[in-house]
Amino acid sequence: MIKVGVVGYGTIGKRVADAVLLQDDMELIGVTANTYNYKIEAAERKDIPIFPIKKLHHLLDKIDVVVDCTPKGIGASNKRTYEDMDIKAVFQGGEKPEVAPSFVAQCNYADVACSKFLRVVSCNTTGLCRTLKALDDNYLIDKVHATMIRRAADPWDIYHGPINALVPHLVVPSHHGPDVRTVMPSLEIFTTSISVPTTLMHMHSITVDLQTTPTIDEIVSLFKNTTRVRVVHNVDGIRSTAEIMEYAKDLGRSRGDMPEVCVWSDTIGVWGNKLMYIQAIHQESDVVPENIDAIRAVSGLGPAHESINKTNQSMGIN
Ligand code: NAD
Repeated sequence: MIKVGVVGYGTIGKRVADAVLLQDDMELIGVTANTYNYKIEAAERKDIPIFPIKKLHHLLDKIDVVVDCTPKGIGASNKRTYEDMDIKAVFQGGEKPEVAPSFVAQCNYADVACSKFLRVVSCNTTGLCRTLKALDDNYLIDKVHATMIRRAADPWDIYHGPINALVPHLVVPSHHGPDVRTVMPSLEIFTTSISVPTTLMHMHSITVDLQTTPTIDEIVSLFKNTTRVRVVHNVDGIRSTAEIMEYAKDLGRSRGDMPEVCVWSDTIGVWGNKLMYIQAIHQESDVVPENIDAIRAVSGLGPAHESINKTNQSMGIN
């Protein structure tokens, strides 16, 4: 059993903690709290041990792996403590890539499995990597241009916006392209980004130049057979991120989560050697299975497909 602690019990941390509880090879030793609030009260109801942040060492003393889900920048400053205590650590995508090797299970598990520290990349980077890796493995990618249409804030968040504007990111490329290259270093990719007034999901509009030309049916079939990717269809009434979120609730998913990247079959187009598609990313949950696989990877367990299957099965995802 891998003894796991979660530091930072917010949007990502509470989901990672719940996913650890589902694993038969992991034990959740506890989570940290820096203030008492509804999240901690809910954790107590689930009998999750809570460690006040001032007593972080009490948690760290008991664990093999820490999943650091603190706001960006704090993970990097905690790294020294984890090194000093000889604890393996999984960081999140808000940390700079220098904090640890970047990780997306279906892309580079074997390449980074010996590392004591890993960084699960951001929700957007994870989503891009999942579909682009499948395309590169099967059709060889020449280059990619993708535009991220980004949710303004998480649903609980009353502080961030925009609430009435479309806001282009005025630096190109946006950080997403370079971040994808920390996982797939040889990929030629350029990204741009726009923030929009929604809390539900991100959306990506992607154009890929391929070296061989597929049919639309082949791409639908490829994505259907790619783990952690779900193909959705207009004919099923799924025309928007709102309907994907409703579908996740109807599936009985914990917190209404959709950890799979959702690609609309209706948006897949082929024009010469260019492939176009649109995908939606549930920012609160797509990185959660990646964190579970990263815990196994830093623990020296594998191979990738065994960990991915185990995680998927426990969480009921494709
Ligand atoms: P969050 O604000 O929802 O949660 C962070 C938690 O950490 C809060 O509960 C906060 O109280 C706690 N915290 C703050 N300072 C702390 C400290 N010094 N020590 C311990 N705990 C502390 O943040 P989040 O959205 O869960 O983001 C966490 C990380 O995950 C970031 O790197 C972020 O970039 C990344 N991430 C977020 C999303 C998303 O959409 N929310 C998606 C993918 C990755």
